[in-house]
Amino acid sequence: MICSEAREYLFAFLDNELDASLSMDFQHHIDHCAVCAREVEIERVIREQLVCALKTQDSEIPFNKHAIKQIIRQNKTSGVQPRLVSRRTFLAACVAVVVAAGITSYFAIQYLNSTRDHSKFIDLVVTDFKHFLREDQPIHFASSNANAVSDWLMQQTNIEVILPSVKGKHCKLIGARRCKIEGQAAAFVVYEMQGTPVSLLAVTVRNDALKQMNQIEYNGRIHWVDHFKDISVVAYRRNNLIYAMVSKLNKDELIHFLSGTADESN
Ligand SMILES: [Zn+2]
Repeated sequence: MICSEAREYLFAFLDNELDASLSMDFQHHIDHCAVCAREVEIERVIREQLVCALKTQDSEIPFNKHAIKQIIRQNKTSGVQPRLVSRRTFLAACVAVVVAAGITSYFAIQYLNSTRDHSKFIDLVVTDFKHFLREDQPIHFASSNANAVSDWLMQQTNIEVILPSVKGKHCKLIGARRCKIEGQAAAFVVYEMQGTPVSLLAVTVRNDALKQMNQIEYNGRIHWVDHFKDISVVAYRRNNLIYAMVSKLNKDELIHFLSGTADESN
């Protein structure tokens, strides 16, 4: 076997894909050729680093691992033997991507730690909303009729919910569902606005639930706003209830949606 052949068989050799006779020829060549032996060693080290990086990364980045493994698999099965240099560059890039993903998840964790000052109320409301989105929006009572939805919620939760009047063709009432916030029944009304789900949660909770939120005044009315884990929350008081509008839409869009409906007593 000559050097150019050895380079051609290098990856197949490391992948244990050579038949016995070729494998022995290859081994014989690198036992006597320091240059090719070194290429094999470099390739082995790169592979070990990649495997090591994949193993030690946080489990929160399955997409990156999967994507990289997928690319490697495609590369192997494509039938086209990439040139040594491009293959090596590719593997080195994989190591870099995995390391970068690790750094990203580190900063994501730091970000989560920095959001600990959000109130428990916001945490519960946002968590419940995300749960709702993950479940693919199960609606217990589907109706675009505000009175019918209010009546259903009264029966189910014993909460007298006053629904905002929906304006504009891009907003529509979808229905309602039962849910619980801190063990208490809560009314969960679902709207769709610009194709995005918006929930309106009505709960009887302590007034200090809103104290860590920013207060803003709009058209002479007070709203409490917050943004947590990519979800906006705009709350207002009406009678003895706190209403919280929750969505991926921004707070201004939500306030606009609510304008003229909130009648907070505080
Ligand atoms: Zn050689």
